[in-house]
Amino acid sequence: MVFQYISVLLAVPVFWDRFGLFVIVAAGAVIAILLCKGLKNSAAEDPLVKLFRPRFNQRSGTGDAELKPNPVRRYASCHCLDAQYEPDEVEDEGAGEHGLRPEWQELLFHTEVQETDSHAWNSLEAYIAKVREEGSDELNPMVGIGSEKWEQIVTLPKSIGTLKSVKVLSLHGGHLVRIPPAIGDMTNLEEFDPYTSRCLHWFPYEITRCERLTRSRVSTRCLYGNYKYRPPFPRLPQIPTALAPATCSVCGGLFSQKKTHQAWISLRVATDVLPLLVHACSEKCIESLPKPAFGYAQRPHFGGLHLEQPPADLRQPR
Ligand SMILES: [Zn+2]
Ligand SMILES: [Zn+2]
Repeated sequence: MVFQYISVLLAVPVFWDRFGLFVIVAAGAVIAILLCKGLKNSAAEDPLVKLFRPRFNQRSGTGDAELKPNPVRRYASCHCLDAQYEPDEVEDEGAGEHGLRPEWQELLFHTEVQETDSHAWNSLEAYIAKVREEGSDELNPMVGIGSEKWEQIVTLPKSIGTLKSVKVLSLHGGHLVRIPPAIGDMTNLEEFDPYTSRCLHWFPYEITRCERLTRSRVSTRCLYGNYKYRPPFPRLPQIPTALAPATCSVCGGLFSQKKTHQAWISLRVATDVLPLLVHACSEKCIESLPKPAFGYAQRPHFGGLHLEQPPADLRQPR
């Protein structure tokens, strides 16, 4: 009824003569308010976008105008750390059902096996060989093999250790669940960017051998023991063959005895504190590990649900 009355009014020329300007200004104001509200809502829905827009080509020195959003079809996700979030923060359906936060269970490593006879893996190996031959300073598989193949990669080949010219390693949007110790042989690495590789919960201790590494961009909420939520670490020992390195993470020596000593340690690597997995040849090598970062368990440990960790948000005073 009201709408009929308004539409009749709008159709009368006298109405437009008197109130036309007012109607246009009012409509403009309403549209502006709606637009502002829409923008605010979209930023609130995804705080990550606001804090740190995921970019796959953001090596330092790249101008804002050159940055492009990731050509990602879907980001990796898993349920390992669901218990650290409120139920409404968990993205996937089925998680946090009935509005309850899941209980922590002993965590297990991801066990995904890499298909090494796939086109994706062969393309990645070929791309690494090309980067090595050309002496390029960046390895960025999203660019090198495309996002469709990049989605099928759960670890990197050992051949990354032969890349002595690479300064920037960008693993944006990766579905990686582990990185091989060979990363420690990338001796010229300066910038490490696994941001948005959300199933990467830890890194090999060997990354500390990259002495020039000074810049990093890591999705820290996805890490074991992260300062924000203090999720647990998987209980050690757990040594699937996919994880075991050929030599000691600490001294580089061969494993002379059958026993491999595993331990967790949280250390500052470039700009982030990372949970690092050590495979040592002896107790002595574990004892020689450096002092852990402030605000994290203060000695190498074996993880597990009962590990005591500092309170959430404890950070180094500036
Ligand atoms: Zn996971
Ligand atoms: Zn050793």
